[in-house]
Amino acid sequence: MDLPVVVIGAGPQGLATAAHLLERGIEPVVVEAGPVAAASVAQWRHVRLFSPWPELVDAAASRLLAADGWKVPSGGYPTGGEWIGGYLAPLAAALGGRVRYGARVVGVARKGRDLSVDAGRAEQPFVVQLRDADGTEVRVEARAVIDASGTWTHPAPAGANGLPALGEQAAAAAGLVTHRIPDPADAAALAGKHVVVVGSGHSAATAIIELAAVVREHPATRVSWVLRRGTVGNTFGGGAADELAERGVLGQRAKQAVDAGLVTFVTGFRTEVITVAGGRAVVAAEDGRVLDPANRVVVLTGYRPDLSFLTEVRLELDYRLQAPVRVASEVDPNIHSCGSVRATGAAELSHPELGFFIVGAKSYGRAPTFLAMTGYEQVRSVVASLAGDLEAAARVDLVLPDTGVCGGSGVFDAPEEEAGGCCGGPQLVQLGSRG
Ligand SMILES: Cc1cc2nc3c(=O)[nH]c(=O)nc-3n(C[C@H](O)[C@H](O)[C@H](O)COP(=O)(O)OP(=O)(O)OC[C@H]3O[C@@H](n4cnc5c(N)ncnc54)[C@H](O)[C@@H]3O)c2cc1C
Repeated sequence: MDLPVVVIGAGPQGLATAAHLLERGIEPVVVEAGPVAAASVAQWRHVRLFSPWPELVDAAASRLLAADGWKVPSGGYPTGGEWIGGYLAPLAAALGGRVRYGARVVGVARKGRDLSVDAGRAEQPFVVQLRDADGTEVRVEARAVIDASGTWTHPAPAGANGLPALGEQAAAAAGLVTHRIPDPADAAALAGKHVVVVGSGHSAATAIIELAAVVREHPATRVSWVLRRGTVGNTFGGGAADELAERGVLGQRAKQAVDAGLVTFVTGFRTEVITVAGGRAVVAAEDGRVLDPANRVVVLTGYRPDLSFLTEVRLELDYRLQAPVRVASEVDPNIHSCGSVRATGAAELSHPELGFFIVGAKSYGRAPTFLAMTGYEQVRSVVASLAGDLEAAARVDLVLPDTGVCGGSGVFDAPEEEAGGCCGGPQLVQLGSRG
């Protein structure tokens, strides 16, 4: 069948997938909802990554770019914006017309077969339905589909039960609630005001560090850091035990801000209601506790996979994390409160729908522990399997670094010694969770 492989999303993982496909002689069509490549990374361009440059560059992408004299940038740890400028944008440019911008995937199916039909299913090509910026819908046929659409576009809400807190959406519409990490200009605009940060993990830690700098400059500023869990636990990450040094430092800098009294911790707070009153947001918990009115509520409780366009493909997802089941068993904080995290490849990423894969950040579902290097290994293996190179597909070329922490959001109610006090082996790290 002379059809392309459709890759959903031109983020770091979708672009790397395309490079691997090209190297294997398979034509990719990358469809990207945003107007440019890495549209999601662009929204957190001000954040400095905790991974150094070599861990942020895919090997096949590097080979493709090297043909034009490109070299891995030097200089330690890029910001999201530098990741785009130094690598992702040149990679998208090298892929040229194979990337289609302003095209949102709104559906994936087998041609002429809905979810329930078995007959001849595996012989049918995929159809991918796209909606362009002007609302026009078209279909592209594909021999395989690789979904690398990430989770950034679907941030989790403040509600402790996973639903938006009552009033959260109205407060967001009023500009009082955001689900994004403040950039320095946003943070500076909050000088002298009261800010509530909901959630734990690295996104929340990044926001806390940014806001603590404002408190230092303008001591009248107040920052309340709301955690669902009753104890601080592993909120500050693995520190010196983290094999990714900058990831460890991030948590420690947030801890310093708390220890210095720049930020007030509020633990065991299960957000239930956010009310708008007098131009400010009032956050209340299930147990009736109410925080002082806030000028801004920053909700950083994690991200979720968008499954809305996958209703007609046969998926095998874990019911807790909404990740492929064999990936979930590796990354589920309920299971891996103190265990190792293995790299994953085609075998773990396959579904009953043959030829369909979810890779990259979306492959971890709601688990907040994804690393770019994990995804580069996934796409190497998935593309090898599509190319029929089963030896390369089965091989594991990656050992994940130890984070030096135990536990995750799934065990937030456990006593500290169970939830995160131990450290016996390679561990998970959270990019965002409700804590
Ligand atoms: C603040 C922050 C800091 C991070 N720091 C690190 C770090 O230091 N090291 C590290 O390894 N990882 C880090 N990560 C994890 C990081 O998200 C991933 O490494 C990487 O961005 C994930 O790439 P991705 O391609 O899977 O998803 P994304 O980067 O989310 O890209 C997905 C793309 O798909 C597009 N898209 C979405 N839906 C559709 C659709 N329906 N149709 C078409 N296109 C669609 C989006 O516009 C986007 O361009 C960080 C994440 C965050 C949020």
